[in-house]
Amino acid sequence: MNDAMGTHGRDDRREAMPEELTVPEDEHLHAMLTRLKLTAIRERLDTLLDEAAGKGLSFRQTLYHLCRTEVEHKDARRTVMGMSIAHFPCVRDLENFDYGARTSVDRRQMEELSAGRWIAGGENLLFLGPPGVGKTHLAIALGRKAIERGYTTLFTNAVSLLTQLVRAQGEGKLEERLAWYAKPKLLIVDELGYLPLESGAGHLFFQLVSRRYERGSMLITSNRAVGEWGMVFDDAVVATAILDRLLHHSIVVTIRGESYRLREKRRSGMIRNDTSDTTTETAKGNPAGI
Ligand code: ADP
Ligand code: MG
Repeated sequence: MNDAMGTHGRDDRREAMPEELTVPEDEHLHAMLTRLKLTAIRERLDTLLDEAAGKGLSFRQTLYHLCRTEVEHKDARRTVMGMSIAHFPCVRDLENFDYGARTSVDRRQMEELSAGRWIAGGENLLFLGPPGVGKTHLAIALGRKAIERGYTTLFTNAVSLLTQLVRAQGEGKLEERLAWYAKPKLLIVDELGYLPLESGAGHLFFQLVSRRYERGSMLITSNRAVGEWGMVFDDAVVATAILDRLLHHSIVVTIRGESYRLREKRRSGMIRNDTSDTTTETAKGNPAGI
């Protein structure tokens, strides 16, 4: 640092500076760090300054070192909070996903999706395919990556989401509930189509999709091709309206392959079966079927 007062004596320097700068009492410094919410710096101040001195860092480098410590701490805390409010049913990661021969899931595509550009752009992502092929696993894994990248995320099951909306409507609180589901940057809706939905659920889902349209991403997993969503919602018109918005900016990944659970069982000799079909179909925009 440029020492403009280098030629002055100690007492002169004192006069030239506000009194509090000349007395860096720990208590005072800690109070300011608390007020600025720089808690990681506050907690590790002595160690951090010792490290900086030990490495002979300049003031600028020291400041960088302190700020980085604080930012890393805040990011880690935000990730922990984000994971807890996302309500994932379990922990699944891309690193544990087995891209072996019997799945059509493409590693490169998943890594690309984990970068989160589709979320930044408000695109939707659909994982379609039969049970056990890893749709929920991938949805959780991508949701976790999204949180690490700072996107607020909420995981919900389709039936519970729609039950909540139907109930809220009955209680005159639909607006509130829709706003709640519209808030996270990424909303994951798992298992659409597995169980029959209540009547009127399609209209509510349509309202949610409209509310999030071009604002926040949805990641939906379903065992039904989009062409069958009329049946899922028991209303072809509403299904078309939902898909119209959902697929406008979307990535559709159709997963083909054998159920991972069955494969594991077969491997362990519990069952014998040898069916496989390993193609991936990825469509941008509006895939065939609606
Ligand atoms: P789906 O949602 O398509 O029905 P899941 O994601 O629930 O399937 O997968 C069923 C189980 O098998 C989960 O425990 C999941 O972690 C595991 N699984 C599925 N596919 C894979 C895979 N390719 N690699 C590792 N685990 C997998
Ligand atoms: Mg699933």
